[in-house]
Amino acid sequence: MQRRILVTSSMFDGERYWGGGERTVVIDGDKVSEVADGDQSSVFSCPGVEVEHVAFVMPGLVEGHAHLFLNGGELDTAVRSAYLKSSVDNMVEVGRRNLQQSAEAGVTLIRDAGDRFGVNHVIRAEAASSAGPLPRVRSAGLGLRGLRGYGAFMAREVGDLTRVSEVVSELAKESDDIKVILTGIIDFEAGRVKGVPQFDVDSCRKIVETAHAAGRKTFAHCSGLDGLAIAVEAGIDSIEHGFFMNEEMLVAMAEKQVAWVPTFSPVDFQWRSPKWCGWDSETQGKLRGILDQHSRQVALAAELGVPLVCGSDAGSHGVPHGSSLIDEVEFLSQAGLNMQTALASATSVPRRLWGEEPAGPVKRARAELVVLAASPFDDPTALRKVVAVIMGRNVLRPERGKMLDETTLKKLIGYRPGG
Ligand SMILES: [Zn+2]
Repeated sequence: MQRRILVTSSMFDGERYWGGGERTVVIDGDKVSEVADGDQSSVFSCPGVEVEHVAFVMPGLVEGHAHLFLNGGELDTAVRSAYLKSSVDNMVEVGRRNLQQSAEAGVTLIRDAGDRFGVNHVIRAEAASSAGPLPRVRSAGLGLRGLRGYGAFMAREVGDLTRVSEVVSELAKESDDIKVILTGIIDFEAGRVKGVPQFDVDSCRKIVETAHAAGRKTFAHCSGLDGLAIAVEAGIDSIEHGFFMNEEMLVAMAEKQVAWVPTFSPVDFQWRSPKWCGWDSETQGKLRGILDQHSRQVALAAELGVPLVCGSDAGSHGVPHGSSLIDEVEFLSQAGLNMQTALASATSVPRRLWGEEPAGPVKRARAELVVLAASPFDDPTALRKVVAVIMGRNVLRPERGKMLDETTLKKLIGYRPGG
């Protein structure tokens, strides 16, 4: 079995920060076989074993909400629309690039939140059969949406609600998770959600029950109190976006342990880059108000014990894959979460909620690890200084400067997380 040893100055194990001196992490094949205090490399080493002294180790990151088939770095809205009419081969190529970009940022597990073209399933299969270092993909395939409801690019329309269980059973054969488009998008000019919820409590409950019977978790695209009330009552496992949240909902979510993926990034882009979206200063002010309210609710959610999951909605306008997940960790920090809680939301929390094996510098855990040039507990920008991404036997060493290029791009469009 191939052994690799890391001697690290500090580490985060998915729940806890270890800063008090060196630790030795022993990796055998796909598993972490030992984690010990101090530099124990001489104890665990034998001829041919690679020993690396590093600054910081943590579990591979989990991107909780992404659309692999979309390039979030494409800012021109006309190009984005035309792209949806391009060939599936072209989209698969874009998906491959997005997967690679995610890996370079330290992501080792991605939950894809839906696409109409099945690119997510193709990328999932390619990643699973690849011999190289690629993140694992959980694919929702096609989502479900109501009759003439929002979400045509990522969901199948269910016109006849009596057939909802049948459709879910069918989707569950191929999909790892069942995605429901419960509400429309946000009308930023009006500062509220467009339209009415696409499913009522009864049909939503049927979706959840059928999915659970097939061993699948459910997640709902949902913003606004009308939709949130339906999702929580129906027992949806995870609420995506969740703008216009309130305390009553959060209390109910904490009680039922409904997860929340607040996806700040796409709205933050609209606020920071109004010229790309055609917003005037009044709408920009509304966007700021929505983001501030969102941030306060996220802080309250953490206090109440709602499981928070980091997800960037990568692929959305102005939300590139990989680096945007780091932005999302920063948004959670800015909301008031400490680094330990924010990083748990991007590592151990989603793995536990989704029934995935534990990963990271923990004995018997999956060997999915990120090595950083410094500790993010000392300097949060260290999250962007990825030295190596370990995925079992594979090690990816991102080319120096690649992440910088993306930051430069963001500066060019007037986007700077936390600035
Ligand atoms: Zn999405």
